[in-house]
Amino acid sequence: MITRRLVVSVAGVLTGASVLFVQPAAASPPQTAGREPVAEGYGGAVSTVDPDASRAALDVLRRGGNAMDAAVAAAATLGVTEPYSAGLAGGGFIVYYDARHRRVHTVDGRETAPRAMTATSLEGVPFDDAVTSGLSAGVPGSVAQWELALRRFGTISLGRALRPAIEVASRGFTVDQTFHDQTAANAARFKDFTSTARLYLPGGAPPPVGSVFRNPELAETYRQLGSRGGSWLYGGRLGSEIVATVKNPPVVPGSTRTVRPGLMELSDLTAYRAIERPPTKVTYRGMDVYGMAPPSSGGSTVGEALNILEALPKVGAHEYLEASRLAFADRGRYVGDIPGVPLRELLSDGFAKERACLVGERAIAHPAAPGDPDGTYGPCRAATPSQATPTPAEGPETTHLVVTDRSGNVAAYNITIESTGGNGIVVPGRGFLLNNELTDFTFGPAPGDPNLPGPGKRPRSSMAPTIVLSGGRPLLAVGSPGGSTIITTVLQILVNRWDLGMSLPEALAAPRATQRNTAQTQAEQGFLDRYGAELTLRGHSFTPNPEIGAATAVEFLGGGRLQAVAEPTRRGGGSALVVSGRR
Ligand code: GLU
Repeated sequence: MITRRLVVSVAGVLTGASVLFVQPAAASPPQTAGREPVAEGYGGAVSTVDPDASRAALDVLRRGGNAMDAAVAAAATLGVTEPYSAGLAGGGFIVYYDARHRRVHTVDGRETAPRAMTATSLEGVPFDDAVTSGLSAGVPGSVAQWELALRRFGTISLGRALRPAIEVASRGFTVDQTFHDQTAANAARFKDFTSTARLYLPGGAPPPVGSVFRNPELAETYRQLGSRGGSWLYGGRLGSEIVATVKNPPVVPGSTRTVRPGLMELSDLTAYRAIERPPTKVTYRGMDVYGMAPPSSGGSTVGEALNILEALPKVGAHEYLEASRLAFADRGRYVGDIPGVPLRELLSDGFAKERACLVGERAIAHPAAPGDPDGTYGPCRAATPSQATPTPAEGPETTHLVVTDRSGNVAAYNITIESTGGNGIVVPGRGFLLNNELTDFTFGPAPGDPNLPGPGKRPRSSMAPTIVLSGGRPLLAVGSPGGSTIITTVLQILVNRWDLGMSLPEALAAPRATQRNTAQTQAEQGFLDRYGAELTLRGHSFTPNPEIGAATAVEFLGGGRLQAVAEPTRRGGGSALVVSGRR
């Protein structure tokens, strides 16, 4: 009740003072049966991009499992139904609210570079070659993350959590347009690997929409993983097969593709650890916003941008883009998997004020230079543009899910294999693709860049699973796929919700724009129609992007009522479910 009042009053005050900059797009009817973008009710809720994964989570909740149990079950199921975005050979980040202790935790399951990788290992490698290679495969983090997450916060075993995924992999799921299109978009490389072509191009073509797709080999892999545990991967037989595939990819005889082998050894798998880390935290308009700390830049960049917005007299489209531009300039300069990231200063109000005073009537000249998070803040400091680090390209992949249970625990979970289709290489006979997460490193040469590769290092991520508390109680959780646009999608949804007074479904459906210290701002057509002309006059320049992000979220409406929200149309629409329609 308290939280609900706060939300209403915040939105009420601020919309009066703000330029309303994003109108919600009209919600379209769901494309496929079972896809509902909004569900309200009690006793637990889930939102994912996929009905099978949402049902898997709901099933776990209904049998008494908690939010972490259900999040792992849904992630494993996404490894079946969204295998080009998620999988056991990928990685990810979980932000978790533990209702009993009223604390937010995070579990880092990010992939690592093999120990043989150095700062120059990717230098001179064409990006496209790296995308489909053994070289870009990081040591998988997801299985270790699931085990750690269940051990610390869950109530069921890994084997139990994998059961819904095993069932979906065995009985099959109905191929939808998204799965078909993603397979077709990958066909040119999938056909070059014997294992991948056999699994995903049966008969030489993508499975047709409406057909049933089964993956019995993945069902068996999950089954064995459940009974043998993670050590089967981290040092055991499955690990050896992963290493063999990375070092000697199963290229189709006669293929002209050059596939660079990887540097991974079994000892890299043995050395892998998922890590529990403190979350990032900023306070925004009285609410506590928790996010993912390095090696993700999600929490620090969303947090800094929110702090900058809070330091400005009004919040509109221009301010949203400028705050994001400045936060990305700092992300590029300071954030990576290195010691000494100045996280506290990047998230301090003093630093935000210093950055905010660069926001004027006109767009900041590109590229914005990083600030100086040195703990001493005063009047506006104009930084030197030559210090600016460009934001590298990152693709629109990955997936995000949220789950909450009857006790009020909340999981916000981004899982990924990086590119849509990872590195394109299925481990023969095991039914899953390898990741190409190491393409998230800066390839170099780039002296001083915090995101150069290194032995055992985790590539910087943009994943931003986010949980908002008010008065110590959960109010909202949100996240999205989309490479570095993840950060702006999460930021824009929070601004839509809190500053512009939209409901959560409206905040997700609204047209998006993403400014990441790039010369041009990418924007969906609806955003351009509404703001393009006025922002161009203020010095912004745009390039169209048909679809930015595919968010999932949940809001606590007060009195135990929950609102689970998924995309109405992006990526074919998501799936929001609640445990019960009635209290
Ligand atoms: N590799 C990306 C990251 O960690 C996620 C994949 C994507 O969304 O492109 O930020």
